[in-house]
Order: sequence, then structure tokens, then C-alpha cells
Amino acid sequence: KAMEKGKDYIIYSNNQDTFHKENFKILWDFQKALERKELQIHYQPKINLKTSECEGFEALTRWKHPEKGYISPMVFIPLIENTTLIQDLTKFVIEEAFKKLSIWKCEGIDKSIAVNISSNNMEDDSIILHIENLLKKYDIDIDNFQIEITESAVIKDFDTALSFLNNVRSKGIKVAIDDFGTGYSSLNYLNLLPVDYIKVDHKFAKESLRNVKKTKIIEHIITLSHDLDMKVVVEGVENEDILANMYKMEADFAQGYYFSRPMPEEEMNEWLNSQKN
Ligand code: C2E
Ligand code: CA
Ligand code: CA
Ligand code: CA
Repeated sequence: KAMEKGKDYIIYSNNQDTFHKENFKILWDFQKALERKELQIHYQPKINLKTSECEGFEALTRWKHPEKGYISPMVFIPLIENTTLIQDLTKFVIEEAFKKLSIWKCEGIDKSIAVNISSNNMEDDSIILHIENLLKKYDIDIDNFQIEITESAVIKDFDTALSFLNNVRSKGIKVAIDDFGTGYSSLNYLNLLPVDYIKVDHKFAKESLRNVKKTKIIEHIITLSHDLDMKVVVEGVENEDILANMYKMEADFAQGYYFSRPMPEEEMNEWLNSQKN
């Protein structure tokens, strides 16, 4: 048994070693990614289910690494989240969103952009100050700017999240709770939070096709959210069957591959144009 344990340990430590080396390289390279313009924003539409119109887009970061190709945000975000790099990334994405919103305002296009905020972005004032500076620099309709904070970030430090959300919301910014239903939190804290949208995690959408219990849970989330004056966005709408379910349950907005994958800016412009006809 001791030997087995020893063996396990070696395998474990070897894996840990390569894990650390690779992650360290990714972290190291990310420091240069911003200045080298390797980061791009892709935009995924959010569809209003009552009007079938696009209400706006979620900004999702893409990193084209010079040697490794595209690295998923699910890989690099957790790595940079515990460093100051997450501040740099979030500030960059917010400014890209502001730029786009100011162009749209000139063109008379009334669409929103939502930016993902990490829990570590809420710990000091730097993001708030950044937004205040951008508001002086760009002419936008602030109610078209939204931020998304995951349920787990809210649970991690409720008081910090609460004061951050109160702060951004007092500026007219809309707030969404992301990945809702993945944590083990009760629904009770919802009425304590200043929130405009609940984004139901994409796993519920898929499972709604075959899992009656999951369907019941979404139904309750939707009803409760509406009672609390919040709108519900369903993520992961990949096909017509899921869409029909969500429609039946009176979800307000939907996002997913059925409508569109996240698109680079040029493609989003074309997509928006094609929606008008
Ligand atoms: P998220 O905020 O929940 O974003 C939704 C993710 O689901 C995106 O993955 C999107 O491409 C994907 N998705 C969209 N429609 C569908 C669908 O119909 N089916 C399925 N299976 N997936 C769909 P992506 O872009 O890889 O981003 C992954 C996560 O990385 C995001 O999850 C978000 O938590 C994080 N992330 C991305 N960009 C940023 C960023 O700029 N800042 C921060 N803090 N996090 C980011
Ligand atoms: Ca999100
Ligand atoms: Ca608006
Ligand atoms: Ca999500």
C-alpha cells in the first residue's frame, strides 16, 4: 500500500510539474499579449424572445497565441485571475465595449454590450474609476453597457459583490448574474442583490430536453426572477427544441449557437446588417 501511495505521489507530482510549467508559460506570455494585440473580442448576440430581435451582445475574449494558436478563456482566465493581469484584461474589454457603443450611438444603433467581470475585479475601485474615465472619453448610452458576474463570484464574497454592484448600478449600468444555478446557493440572496438579469447556465438548457427535474428548476428560476423584477437570459440555446422549451417557460432572452456563435467585430457588423432585412 505504501508503495502504491509512493507511485501515486510520483505520478501526481510529475503531472503537477508539467501543469505548473505550462501554466507559468501561459501566464508569462499573457503579459505581452495585450501590447502585442493578440487579444480579440468576439461578440455573441442575445435575442429578445418576445420580439425575436437582437437586444445586444456579450463580449468574449479570444487569445491568439503566437505558437499555441487560440487559447480558450476557460484556460487563461483562471490563471490570470489571481494576478493584476485580470485588471488589465477587464479594462481592455470594457474600453473595446465603450468604443463600439460610441460608434453605434453615432450610427443610431441601440444595442447593448455585456462584459464579464471577475471576482477579483470587484475588490478595489480600479474598474469603477476606469469606467468613470471612459465615460468622459466616449459618448455612449450607459444603459446599453452591462456587466456579468458569476454566481460563484457573488457567493465567494457577498459583501464585496454587493457594494460593487450597487456602485456600478448607481451609474446606470445593467447587471447580470452569470452561470446561475451552478452554485449551491439558495435563491434567497437574489432579492438582496441589485440585479437586472439572471443568466441561467447552459447546462440547464440542454438538460431541459430530457430531465424533468432540471426543467422544474428553470421554471422556478424564471418565475422567481420575474417576481423580483429581473429578466431571464437562457444560455446554450443550441437548437429549435431547446428554444421552444425556453419560449414555453417564458424566458425573456436567449443566447446560443442556434442564433449565432460569438463573432469577430466585422462579422458581427454584417450579421447585424443582415438582421435588418
Ligand atoms: P460565459 O460568460 O458563461 O460565456 C458563455 C460561453 O458559452 C462562451 O464560451 C460561449 O462561446 C459559449 N457558448 C455560447 N453559446 C453556446 C451554446 O449554444 N452551447 C455551448 N455549449 N456553449 C455556448 P467562451 O467564449 O469560451 O468563454 C468561456 C468563459 O470564459 C465565459 O463563460 C466566461 O466565464 C469566461 N470569459 C470569456 N471572456 C472573458 C472576459 O473577457 N473576462 C472574464 N472575466 N471572463 C471571460
Ligand atoms: Ca458571461
Ligand atoms: Ca437601451
Ligand atoms: Ca454563463
